[in-house]
Amino acid sequence: MNPLYASMPTTIFEKMSGLARETGSINLGQGFPDSNGPADVVAAAAAALTDASNQYPPMAGLAVLRQAVAGHYRHHQQIALDADREVIITSGATEALAASILALVSPGDTVLLFQPLYDAYLPLVLRAGGIPRFVRLEPPHWRLTAEALDAAFTPDVRLAILNNPLNPTASMFSAEELALLADRVVRNDAVVICDEVWEHVVFDGRRHVPLMALPGMRDRTVKIGSGGKIFSLTGWKVGWMCAAPRLAEPLSRAHQFLTFTTAPNLQAAVAHGLGKDDGYFTAMRADFARSRDRLVQGLGEAGYVTLPSAGTYFVPIDLAASGIMLDDAGFCDRLVRDHGVAAIPVSAFYAENPVTSVVRLCFAKRDETLDPAIGRLADARRAMAR
Ligand code: PMP
Ligand code: GLN
Repeated sequence: MNPLYASMPTTIFEKMSGLARETGSINLGQGFPDSNGPADVVAAAAAALTDASNQYPPMAGLAVLRQAVAGHYRHHQQIALDADREVIITSGATEALAASILALVSPGDTVLLFQPLYDAYLPLVLRAGGIPRFVRLEPPHWRLTAEALDAAFTPDVRLAILNNPLNPTASMFSAEELALLADRVVRNDAVVICDEVWEHVVFDGRRHVPLMALPGMRDRTVKIGSGGKIFSLTGWKVGWMCAAPRLAEPLSRAHQFLTFTTAPNLQAAVAHGLGKDDGYFTAMRADFARSRDRLVQGLGEAGYVTLPSAGTYFVPIDLAASGIMLDDAGFCDRLVRDHGVAAIPVSAFYAENPVTSVVRLCFAKRDETLDPAIGRLADARRAMAR
């Protein structure tokens, strides 16, 4: 038995969703919308199930989806990708992360990770034999500084793993911060796995800057995306990894023995969705921004102080500033058990020296879900604030 797995806890997402089910709570923890995704994309999946092949698709993914990914990024992010050599379809971004970490990390390699970090990164890096080195980001702005990067980016760093926009902080790295990172990566002749699953879920006119588009980064970046996030279909697990052929080749060797392929009808439907016009993406963002604003306003009226939410499905609460002296895990525990709302403690995203005063709430819900949750959160603050 591998000791890493034997001693590993269940992920915070499953733990909090489990508690939500047990206690009958409103689940603002794990990030998923309570809608069922765009009807035409779901219909395309249903049609493909009956009208198209249900046998193994090609290992790299259906050609129509690889072409749709390349076309989508050409249109939305001005990146030119070769659909045949630079796009590999995976079973969610999670498999793309696993494949790219397995393919790019050799035992003993130093891997730079930014905390807070998405839960899958560290266990995968450790299992691959990598030596993690952490750069710590802090509220309220979660900024990446030249000083922190220079302290961490020693010549032995071969790989960095970045998430932008960043879950759980709901922040986005600026073009200047990305340029600082790109500069060190190029100087070190290193590579970055950039998890950009939240690239379309950005608000207030912001635009996502793909790391791959920065000078020197085209051949040094593995860009990871997910249809689950782009179309609010989180259960579908259709993702992809895009990289120059010298990286894509080893990535595809790792992918061939993880899942080899992904359900063809879902691939066909995501290909259909990626071709939707700009209006769809603008409306999707406006819809989420409206839900964000509804939750932020309700929380504010209840006396909570929230941190900015530039993207993702999430809004962070600053507990101390909200007059709550409990740590995040203690607050989330009481919130779900006594007040019927599940949330995620941000300390779960730190491997060391955690920030313990921030809680993540998911606003990607209908008003009928958000409004009672706000009422319960208001009760919780009355009970827990000093
Ligand atoms: N990376 C990040 C930062 C995420 O937030 C998520 C899921 N929300 C994933 C990866 C996993 O994506 P998928 O469901 O496509 O595997
Ligand atoms: N990415 C989702 C979140 O941040 C959870 C995904 C999962 O449960 N593995 O809530």
